[in-house]
Amino acid sequence: SAKAAGKRQWCHYQPALQAGLVERHELNENLDTAIAESAFKLYYQPIVDLASGALVAFEALVRWPHDRRGMVLPDEFIALAEESGQIVPLGAWVLERAAQEAAAWHRLSAEPRLARGLPPLRVNVNVSARQFRDAGFVDVVRGAVRTSGITPDVLVLELTESVLMRRDERVHTDMRTLSELGVGIAIDDFGTGYSSLSYLREFPISILKIDKSFIDGLGLSQQQYALVEGITRIADTLGVQVIAEGIENTEQRDLLAAMGCPLGQGYLFAHPLTPDQARRLITDHSPITTPAPHRT
Ligand code: C2E
Ligand code: MG
Ligand code: MG
Ligand code: MG
Repeated sequence: SAKAAGKRQWCHYQPALQAGLVERHELNENLDTAIAESAFKLYYQPIVDLASGALVAFEALVRWPHDRRGMVLPDEFIALAEESGQIVPLGAWVLERAAQEAAAWHRLSAEPRLARGLPPLRVNVNVSARQFRDAGFVDVVRGAVRTSGITPDVLVLELTESVLMRRDERVHTDMRTLSELGVGIAIDDFGTGYSSLSYLREFPISILKIDKSFIDGLGLSQQQYALVEGITRIADTLGVQVIAEGIENTEQRDLLAAMGCPLGQGYLFAHPLTPDQARRLITDHSPITTPAPHRT
């Protein structure tokens, strides 16, 4: 990326680079300790049905409370953890914690949701390429499902295109195993990579998450609108559910609902919530926002 290329151009004696390396080293050591002590926190961001405003799922998003740095966001440590391989134990912890939290939601919400004919709340978990490639990954998923007691269809694994681009046999086999197990598979940040719609045919994908960069331009550009509408139509035809990411205003929400995009996520509805806040949202039983106007 341009950012990485820019970094490589720093000359050797730049104090900033020096500080960067020290920080990196320190962060890596801290990360080891944090993994050993399970010192991470999961936040949960609601995913809602755009037509009704009903809560259908939460995406688990990891945070790292750090003594001096405050709450460190994943963009600052996931890449590091991928490079070092630390993402494997960290990712396993995330999967297990998220599955257990989902089981707790079901204990809170089972009766009212069932009474209204609603399926159990799902939990979406981000999985990095390095983590997916690890030989133990499928067993970690199986273990998280079994230990928590959730049904496999409650769990959705969010993969980026970097996983699907490697068309080796292992990726296909593991995808098939996971899909037969019954867990959902989502493509995250769709539109930022090669965005090949052939992934939908080649892999057992159940959900497509359209990247925020497309949603940003919805009300501003006819082309952007047409693109999102087209992707939504094709996905729908193939039986793939669409989640629009990064919805920040009602105009975007209304345009998406009008084109038939079923699900959305973004600051308009809620920021990532603490586990307590998420549980309170479940026990409130009310839609997150007023529903979008009816489809025309
Ligand atoms: P992502 O999976 O695409 O998650 C969505 C990110 O967008 C989250 O940032 C979320 O807080 C943010 N977001 C949601 N709605 C809005 C909005 O309306 N406006 C804006 N500006 N942002 C919004 P977050 O939590 O900082 O996570 C960043 C990325 O870190 C995630 O992107 C994901 O790729 C990665 N990540 C997070 N948790 C994990 C994890 O447990 N494992 C792995 N491997 N990656 C993770
Ligand atoms: Mg995600
Ligand atoms: Mg995303
Ligand atoms: Mg992202």
